[in-house]
Amino acid sequence: MDLEQLFLENKEQSIAGRYITLDDIEPLLEKLNTNNQLSVIGKSVQGRNIFKYQIGTGKVRILLWSQMHGNESTTTKALFDFLNVLTNHSELANELLSKFTFCAIPMLNPDGAVLYTRANANLVDLNRDSQDLTQPESIVLRATFDTFQPDYSFNLHDQRTIFGVGSTGKSATVSFLAPSYNEEREVNESRLKAINLISSINEVLQQYIPEQVARFDDSFNINCIGDTFQYLGSSTLLFEAGHFPGDYQREETRKFIFFALISSFITLNENDIVSNGIDKYLNIPQNKAVFYDFIYKNVRINYDGIEKITNFAFQYKEELVENNITFNAYLVEMGELEGYFGHYEYDANEGSYSDDDGGIPKLSQKANFYLNKSIKIVNGLIKK
Ligand SMILES: [Zn+2]
Repeated sequence: MDLEQLFLENKEQSIAGRYITLDDIEPLLEKLNTNNQLSVIGKSVQGRNIFKYQIGTGKVRILLWSQMHGNESTTTKALFDFLNVLTNHSELANELLSKFTFCAIPMLNPDGAVLYTRANANLVDLNRDSQDLTQPESIVLRATFDTFQPDYSFNLHDQRTIFGVGSTGKSATVSFLAPSYNEEREVNESRLKAINLISSINEVLQQYIPEQVARFDDSFNINCIGDTFQYLGSSTLLFEAGHFPGDYQREETRKFIFFALISSFITLNENDIVSNGIDKYLNIPQNKAVFYDFIYKNVRINYDGIEKITNFAFQYKEELVENNITFNAYLVEMGELEGYFGHYEYDANEGSYSDDDGGIPKLSQKANFYLNKSIKIVNGLIKK
């Protein structure tokens, strides 16, 4: 299977970038709704529709939901690319639709999507509400789960740019987890299925993004939706779309999430599960918070006449300004930064720091400064 070609042919061209709201996807869902596959299953806090798109007649039931966290849109893009495959009348589509029934909730948190926040409009993290079920969005997801009774549950998220693949210095472009169902993190039959599937997906992804796949921390927290669904006996996989070098719009990562989705169902369809899945799963390095967006090394600073050579770390904040996500870099750390990496690194060679605001660097100031008074850095990047 030529996954690159499949992606090119099925990529949903009308959505791109990070800011994806219900206004973007509603027309797509209407277009895909050729045979009553679409329904409204509930309303968000602010009264927006929560949609479900169900397709297929197969006996293996697959539940997928995206944008439970409103600002995590990469998997939503990939999900629409995948739905395009399912509806393109190809041999592959027919095969998958006869083997599986897919139930997709492409945007569980449409209010958070508009606000570009992780939480919903009541400032509740829906991924900590799976026991209390205090929010309408949580109730809708749980009701869908209870009615649909999925064999597999795909919990689709984005993660921040801070994560690396262990300490390798590689960015964690995609991370996975088969969540635990108990404190002891034991492996039962249903969790094992998720583990084996992740190992199979990983073997595919390694061909495209070698050493850029990581494994998320599996501490048990029953308030997290994945842990709850695993506990309830559905084989649950967490997908975390992460940073690919240079790809802040996450259009490259989108492709790898699409590859992961497609290979999941091809693998299950062909029953082509890896052997020694647990060992292979445990061999995927753990996700580790070791990255900053920018590191400037060996910068000379001057505090009241005392000179010091240090390193600066800047991190982007994603800020919603007039319907656009802007990336604004702020100083978040100074010092040794031992064991940390920058997606962008620059060696200042002991060049001296100055800025337009007193000349002493302060945490949480914007990443605008000079080196040797001649090199100008604006929003983290050297201005040519
Ligand atoms: Zn998330």
